[in-house]
Amino acid sequence: MCLVLAASATAYAAPGMTYRDHLVYSHTSGNITVHATSPIEAEDAMRLFHSEFDRVRSEILHEDELKLTLPIKVFIWDDEILYHTKVEVAPDHGGACSFQVKTRKTKHHEIHLCPSALADQSYDEAVLNMLPHEICHILQYEQFQRDKLVAAKPKSKPRAKPVTATYPLAVAEGLAVLAEQSDQAMRIRLLGKTLRQTKGELATNLLQVTHYHQVSDMTQFYAEAYSFSEFLRSRMSEMQFTSFLELLRSGKTVPAAFGTTLGYKTTRAASKALNYHWRQHALLQAKLLAELEKRKASDAAKTDKDKKNEKATPLPPTQPQNAPLRRALAKSA
Ligand SMILES: [Zn+2]
Repeated sequence: MCLVLAASATAYAAPGMTYRDHLVYSHTSGNITVHATSPIEAEDAMRLFHSEFDRVRSEILHEDELKLTLPIKVFIWDDEILYHTKVEVAPDHGGACSFQVKTRKTKHHEIHLCPSALADQSYDEAVLNMLPHEICHILQYEQFQRDKLVAAKPKSKPRAKPVTATYPLAVAEGLAVLAEQSDQAMRIRLLGKTLRQTKGELATNLLQVTHYHQVSDMTQFYAEAYSFSEFLRSRMSEMQFTSFLELLRSGKTVPAAFGTTLGYKTTRAASKALNYHWRQHALLQAKLLAELEKRKASDAAKTDKDKKNEKATPLPPTQPQNAPLRRALAKSA
């Protein structure tokens, strides 16, 4: 989830309480501070922050040199109710488990994570998904910030004005989901199912979403954003993808930037290709995943059956020549 908020005050928790009453441990390294409920959580999150920051910067955005212009505060909430009082910081935004926000007054980024809000994931899994996702949004902000500084007149002193532009929402969120360390099978499966039931211009529809409040089904939106960005990356080399993102930052639409990067004659042709090829790509992904899962299930069933047979007719223990076979069977089980 992402939000660049150009508004005001950050009011912390219940009256008379500050976040320090709950997140009593903090750990600082350079311009990063992590607030958590235990020193282990704070230190682990800091280590993860540094490694994920480098990974997302180079693997997702291909930006080895990109620097942070603002400090970052990371808050790891153990209590969903308290976490939701933080969502007030970003009122347009329903961040169910994590969000990133930048406030003009405080001149820093905040990342708020609530690992317990993801019921189907362990604490470690949840942090591994949320933290890189939010880091990716901050890096996207820094890309726009840097482009703005470069664009300043040569004689004037570059000033870091808050950036208001972002990538089109589907790309911003798609890249952030690509940064996650999570298993994307659920998203691939969901989209495959939707695509088999619907016709229409999926890319055009997705790109019309410009605000979170336009989205009625967030799970579906994230599945589409992920699949769309993954498709775009699969169609371009690293260099092409970098210049595609540059074109988006200069204000081009997704079909125009896609068309320019891949040499389509018109934006209309590029848009048609996006709709058609993304659908094919997503359907193929879903089909391959289903085949893989089917094979895994039948392998597991076969192994179960073999185990039962082995129990039913135990190999005579007195014959030593059976030992290697037993070992092999035990291994394959
Ligand atoms: Zn996001």
